[in-house]
Amino acid sequence: MATAPFVSTGALPPRDRMQALVDAALDRFAALGDGRVADYIPALGRADPKGFGIAVVGSSGDAVTAGDCHQRFSIQSISKPFVFALIVQAIGAEAARAKLGVNATGMAFDSVIAIELGDVRATNPMVNAGAIAAASLLPGDTADAKWGFLVEGLSRFAGRTLEVDAEVYESESATNLRNRGIAALLHSYGKLGIEPEAALDIYTRQCALSVTVMDLAAMAATLANGGVNPVTRAHVVEADVARRVLAVLTVSGLYERSGDWLFDIGLPGKSGVSGGILSAAPGKGGMGAWSPPLDSAGNSVRGKAVTRFLSDALGLNLFASQPAAVDGGA
Ligand code: GLU
Repeated sequence: MATAPFVSTGALPPRDRMQALVDAALDRFAALGDGRVADYIPALGRADPKGFGIAVVGSSGDAVTAGDCHQRFSIQSISKPFVFALIVQAIGAEAARAKLGVNATGMAFDSVIAIELGDVRATNPMVNAGAIAAASLLPGDTADAKWGFLVEGLSRFAGRTLEVDAEVYESESATNLRNRGIAALLHSYGKLGIEPEAALDIYTRQCALSVTVMDLAAMAATLANGGVNPVTRAHVVEADVARRVLAVLTVSGLYERSGDWLFDIGLPGKSGVSGGILSAAPGKGGMGAWSPPLDSAGNSVRGKAVTRFLSDALGLNLFASQPAAVDGGA
């Protein structure tokens, strides 16, 4: 018997079919008017509620886009899985689990009570507490060195050099009292590798990195492709790291709506308050969508709708199966 580990296989449909589906998805959901643009970070409140873009990158490197695919927006929470990937790569899966946790909190992304109730105080790396702790644990002796490591790593996931949107960074830095409270609480539990202000500053800057839907799709496709960026072919993290990150995304990528997301869409995904959503189909590719109006848990309304449509149309749902044909059966 072959001893190679089982991995998900299968490919996306041909490029022209994917393009037709992505165009159809944009058309179908552009008129969806629900949701509210986040404004608790003042700079985000200026986003165009009609903005809408989609990108899909396959493991072959094939890419298709539709809508506002050149529009830049701040990555926000979607940075979290990629920083977690860098940490798992640097300190190993067991140390990362022990320090950051891998279970869902079932609570909001900025919950303080989740820190108090959980046995791993950092809760998990897909919500603010775990992400601030993760930023503090990045390799590097100084905050600058940690930041340099982070930008270099996330840029390799995207396949181009990412830059901070200074307006978003300054706007969030001036208003992030709640995250300051979270950082102080984590510090009181001895969960940070550096001073709380420095950890929070790295986290706030990472959330302000400016991306497009194509960047999100390439980043997701890298996690879905054993840690290799399918466009640049750069080996960003080990395959074992990529699968661990997708596991944590599956349980907690859509905050307290992760169960609803899996129930409908059946893919590891991550959303952010600027309206981005990415999802990864192991072995097949990644998708990125952006549209600023959010549901009450902070997830893009059009982004969710379009991902659901494409997950079905492209055959990506991890839980979908059909009965096997049996020889001689009825
Ligand atoms: N920078 C945002 C915050 O800390 C990220 C939230 C999100 O995208 O979920 O509030």
